[in-house]
Amino acid sequence: YGQLLSPLNQISSLYRRVMSNAVDTEQLIELLNETREIQDKTDPVELEIDPLEGAEIEFDDLRFSYDGKVDVLKGVSLRVPRGKSVALVGPSGGGKSTITRLLYRFYDVSGGAIRINGHDVRDLSQRSLRAAIGLVPQDSVLFNSSVRFNIAYGGLSRLNAEGKAEEGKDLAMDEIVEAAKSAAMHDRVMSFPDQYETLVGERGMRLSGGEKQRIAIARTILKNPPILVLDEATSALDTHNERLIQTRLRELSQGRTSLIIAHRLSTIVDADLICVLKDGQIVEQGSHNELLQIEGGVYAELWQKQIEGQDSTLPSAAPSGTQT
Ligand code: ATP
Repeated sequence: YGQLLSPLNQISSLYRRVMSNAVDTEQLIELLNETREIQDKTDPVELEIDPLEGAEIEFDDLRFSYDGKVDVLKGVSLRVPRGKSVALVGPSGGGKSTITRLLYRFYDVSGGAIRINGHDVRDLSQRSLRAAIGLVPQDSVLFNSSVRFNIAYGGLSRLNAEGKAEEGKDLAMDEIVEAAKSAAMHDRVMSFPDQYETLVGERGMRLSGGEKQRIAIARTILKNPPILVLDEATSALDTHNERLIQTRLRELSQGRTSLIIAHRLSTIVDADLICVLKDGQIVEQGSHNELLQIEGGVYAELWQKQIEGQDSTLPSAAPSGTQT
C-alpha cells in the first residue's frame, strides 16, 4: 500500500512546499528534479522532434499494474500516427488515464513498451520527454503565485524552434496575454483586482474548476508541444466556455499528435480514431460511424446512454446552460 501511494505523496509534498512559498522558476525546477521517483538511465537519449515531422507514438502490448497484483492494462497496442488524434473512451476504471501517465512516465510500464518516434520512453531523458508533451489534466493544480506565473509555467519546459528541449526562460508579457486570450481567460483575468499579478491558489484568489482549466489550457498553448494529451480537458467548463475551448483545442490539435480522453463522446466524434478501452483492453476501435455500426457494441451503448442522458457516470450531452 505504501509503495502504491508513494508517488502521490511525493507530489503532494511538492505542492505543499510550492504552496508555502512564492516559488521561483529555479526552485521549482530543483523541486521537480528532487522528487523524481523514476530515474533517467545513465546516458539518456535527448528526444528531439523536428517540428516539420512531428511525433508518432506507439503503445506496444502495454501492460501495467499499480500494485503488482491487479493488472490495470492487459496488453494494449495502439499507434498514434504523426499529427493524428486518437480518442480513448470507455467505462470508468478502464485504464484511460493510466495510459497517459505511462506516456508521461510518471510510472514505468510493467510489460511492453511505449515508443515516440521509435525511442522507448525509458531511454529518453525525462526533461526532453516532458518538454515534448503538453498535458491538460482532469484536475489542474495552481501554484500559490500570480496568474502570470501560473500561465508562464507552460513555457518553462518546451521544445524550441529546432525541436530540442530548452531551459525555462522568462516569457514576454504579450506572449502570456496572447495565450490567455486563446484560452478564453484574458477577460476574466482583467476583471481580477490585480489582473495578471493577482495571487491565486490556496492562499490567493480561489478560482473555479473551469477557470483553472482555462489556465491549464493557456499553459499548454504557450508550451506549443508536438504531442498533446487532453484528459477530459473541458469537463469543468460551462457549455458556453466548453464550446469556445473545444474550438480552440481542435485548432491546437491540428497537426499535433493528440491523445484525447473523453467521457462526453460528443467532443471526440471527429477524432481520427476512437479506441474503446474496457478493463485494460481495447475492445473496439474505429471512427465514430464505424463504432456505431457494431451491434451491441460498447461504444454504441455508451453513445445511446449519453443521448438519453441516463448514465449518471457520464456528464450527459447536456442541455445548454448546464454546468458540470
Ligand atoms: P475514469 O474514466 O474514471 O477516469 P480511467 O479509464 O481513466 O477511468 P484509470 O484512472 O486509468 O481509469 O484507472 C484504471 C484502474 O487503475 C482503476 O481500477 C483504478 O482504480 C486503478 N488506479 C488508478 N490510479 C491508481 C493508483 N494511483 N493506484 C492504484 N490503482 C489505481
